[in-house]
Amino acid sequence: MLARLKTLRPSRLHPKVRAKVAQGVGKLRRFTLARMQAGYIARMRLRRRGECRRCGLCCKLLFECPFLKNLPDGTCRCRIQGRKPDNCAVFPIDERDLRERDLIGAGQPCGFHFHNA
Ligand code: SF4
Ligand code: SF4
Repeated sequence: MLARLKTLRPSRLHPKVRAKVAQGVGKLRRFTLARMQAGYIARMRLRRRGECRRCGLCCKLLFECPFLKNLPDGTCRCRIQGRKPDNCAVFPIDERDLRERDLIGAGQPCGFHFHNA
């Protein structure tokens, strides 16, 4: 049994599976931070620069959100803008979110980055 569990170490997973696991962990982390760590989010917000390019990739982490509308000009919009969950509104909270987002679109950077003080 132990030997079998060892084969499940993240480093042994297929890269695509590892990326999906990372995206799932990130969703859970943002959900938790958005509800319980307002101070952390506020501190990170002070380091955040840039603006959203409406690429929609943060809405495609792990799976494509059913509320995402892909527009003919290549941008996206949220069908429930104004009522979207807090964990969506705060994206990206920190560099971990950008790294996870780049797992599905590194060639098309997010419009946000984080400035080191
Ligand atoms: S990944 Fe970044 S640029 Fe793209 S929609 Fe999300 S916040 Fe905006
Ligand atoms: S609710 Fe809106 S902002 Fe949140 S993932 Fe879905 S489309 Fe994106």
